Amino acid sequence: MTIRQLPDTLVNQIAAGEVIERPASVVKELVENAIDAGATRVDIDLEDGGVRLIRIRDDGGGIPPEELPLAIQRHATSKIASLDDLEAVATLGFRGEALPSIASVSRFSIASRQGRDGRGTVLLVEGGRVGEVAPKQLPPGTTVEVRDLFFNVPARRKFLRAERTELGHIEEWLRQLALARPDVELRVTHNGKPLRRYKGGESGTLFSADRLGETLGEEFLVNALQVDHETPVSTESGSTMRLRGWIARPAYSRASADQQYLYVNGRAVRDRSVAHAVKQAYADVLFHGRQPAYVLFLDVDPRRVDVNVHPAKHEVRFRDSRAIHEFVYRTLSAALAETRAGAVAGIDP
Ligand code: ADP
Ligand code: MG
Repeated sequence: MTIRQLPDTLVNQIAAGEVIERPASVVKELVENAIDAGATRVDIDLEDGGVRLIRIRDDGGGIPPEELPLAIQRHATSKIASLDDLEAVATLGFRGEALPSIASVSRFSIASRQGRDGRGTVLLVEGGRVGEVAPKQLPPGTTVEVRDLFFNVPARRKFLRAERTELGHIEEWLRQLALARPDVELRVTHNGKPLRRYKGGESGTLFSADRLGETLGEEFLVNALQVDHETPVSTESGSTMRLRGWIARPAYSRASADQQYLYVNGRAVRDRSVAHAVKQAYADVLFHGRQPAYVLFLDVDPRRVDVNVHPAKHEVRFRDSRAIHEFVYRTLSAALAETRAGAVAGIDP
């Protein structure tokens, strides 16, 4: 055997295997980039469940022409520059991997213009082969087009499901994002027809009852208990943790865990310990086998949580895991206490 350095395209395709599982992963990475760029409106056009086309247009800060080739380079990012930055990262992205990964497994283009005075330029990449930067008439902001996902990776393409299934994954992910960002307007079309629209404009708030109704339905909304509690992590640390959001009254329990949303510092994650704390808080008020519904935003000092655990960033690691478990349990138990005063509920009518 000879040891050799793999070509860039192959390295990117290998990395794509970790973060780009299906069209929904592409939508996630691209919309997160739009949000990191300060977009207030994001248009998402899909064809064939995103397999044939995903086009994401934003009105964010844009990329200047000379940086456009860098955007699709591996480990190139404008979001962090040092380990210190990584430890306090506030953006959704920071790995500089999404664009080169996506571009290596699709027919890809990125077009961008930085502000009103900037020049619009476009760059095409086909299966990792990079073209030349060319001028293009554009409004300020960025448009990324991803066609024929996995056209050059048959093994991956085989695992794509029916159009409806792929579209369902995209919609679920957008719901998750929409809950956290009521300030951003999202418009989605599929095969040329309007599919969904989340109105934006709830500026700066992570906390919108309107958005809750739009995403999870009126029934959740009328059964929602609002929570908002902040407490010191410990007497010596000086930092605080805050839990905000909505939890459903036991009367609105679910047969499955389909409406459980947790965000840590604005990022949607799964966390066993927090999920366990929630479950424990509901233990006395839900019948066995029923699942609580909740949308919870946990804010902690970014220096006390590691977001660089998983390439797709689905998980985090807390420094104060035990204190957080206790805090979530106590906060939700208190909120649920009032419902405990009446008869035990727990079965949907
Ligand atoms: P990351 O998000 O981890 O930085 P990406 O590969 O997703 O890595 O993007 C690389 C870089 O390209 C970003 O750091 C950003 O500077 C730029 N970029 C990507 N998408 C956009 C966008 N929609 N608007 C403005 N800049 C963008
Ligand atoms: Mg990114």
